[in-house]
Amino acid sequence: MTEVANAPFDRLTAIRTRIAAASAAPATLVAVSKTQPAARVRELYRLGQTAFGENYVQEALAKQRDLADCGIKWHLIGPLQSNKCREVARHFDWLQTLDRAKLVPLLARERPTDAPPLNVLVQVNLDDEDSKSGVAPADIDALADRVAAEPRLRLRGLMAIPKPWPDLTRRGAGFRALRALFEGLRERHSGVDTLSMGMSEDFELALAEGATMVRVGSALFGARA
Ligand SMILES: *Cc1c(COP(=O)(O)O)cnc(C)c1O
Repeated sequence: MTEVANAPFDRLTAIRTRIAAASAAPATLVAVSKTQPAARVRELYRLGQTAFGENYVQEALAKQRDLADCGIKWHLIGPLQSNKCREVARHFDWLQTLDRAKLVPLLARERPTDAPPLNVLVQVNLDDEDSKSGVAPADIDALADRVAAEPRLRLRGLMAIPKPWPDLTRRGAGFRALRALFEGLRERHSGVDTLSMGMSEDFELALAEGATMVRVGSALFGARA
């Protein structure tokens, strides 16, 4: 399929318009750039997109080197292994996938003192799927308290990848449950302001249920290879 020259602009504008229409308050778009070359990230950055999400640390570091002249905010949205904490603390602005307490002191220790605190979202496993990372709802508070106690980390809220139920009513119920968990966390921690949920297929539904941040890949860049 041939693409017209301004396809990135058209896609970004269309997504921004849909986000604005679906949300009551301004929401943040994180452009998910996994598998996309640095040149395509740069293209969107030049169009005004500043937040980008990457799943794999090594892939992200290579792109960050190519794009060092850009003021991009990098979000890690893939699972974090303990041996990658140093790189993540040094080279990312947000960690969206914190799922265990063991990583907290490692991240805090490695965050450079001349950088602002690392923004952290606790990943929630709503559907209790063995294969997926994230903490059970009952364990959010304990992990969040650990993050909040570290001056080099900044607790911002929750992230989730709920099961993509074909039934939209059921999907909406998942987003609503996450919103309730988010409100509960916000009552305990005044700095909490971010609920990251919703992807290309369902970001409007997520926004309608209270997402403040959506992570959109294929709808922005086209299908991944
Ligand atoms: C890949 C990915 C996305 C984006 O998915 P799309 O369906 O391409 O929008 C969002 N969040 C996470 C955690 C991902 O891994």
